[in-house]
Amino acid sequence: MDCLICKKIEKSDAETYLYQSEHWLLRHSSETNIEGYLILEARRHILDFSQASAEELAAYGPLLATAMKAIRKVVSPERVYTFSLAEAVPHLHVHLIPRSAEMPRAWKGRGILAYPLEPVVNPARLTAVCQSLRQELKRQILIG
Ligand SMILES: [Zn+2]
Repeated sequence: MDCLICKKIEKSDAETYLYQSEHWLLRHSSETNIEGYLILEARRHILDFSQASAEELAAYGPLLATAMKAIRKVVSPERVYTFSLAEAVPHLHVHLIPRSAEMPRAWKGRGILAYPLEPVVNPARLTAVCQSLRQELKRQILIG
């Protein structure tokens, strides 16, 4: 299987993902410079939600809400954008992108697709943000 997401899941260690369940994995984007930009990936190699099982679909909604709450708590964005394109990597993954008040107007709404890929988030900041996100996810999942 020549899928980047499947390969990443195969080679992952405890640090790769902020949260893992039977059906979904949540990680911080390593390809962008936006703090709190998470990617929710299906564990199974499926293209989109039309191929998801009833169990995968049932688990998706609560996890998406939990992830969005964690993003809101940790980076306090004005909006959290969510979308799935599956063009570069045809394996179901959903982008959760916090749009801050400071973000340039050109990136708001559909303009978010023009965000710069570099420089990536400062590694020390990224570690701190991921630690806060892990704590918040744990808290959210425990309290439901
Ligand atoms: Zn895959």
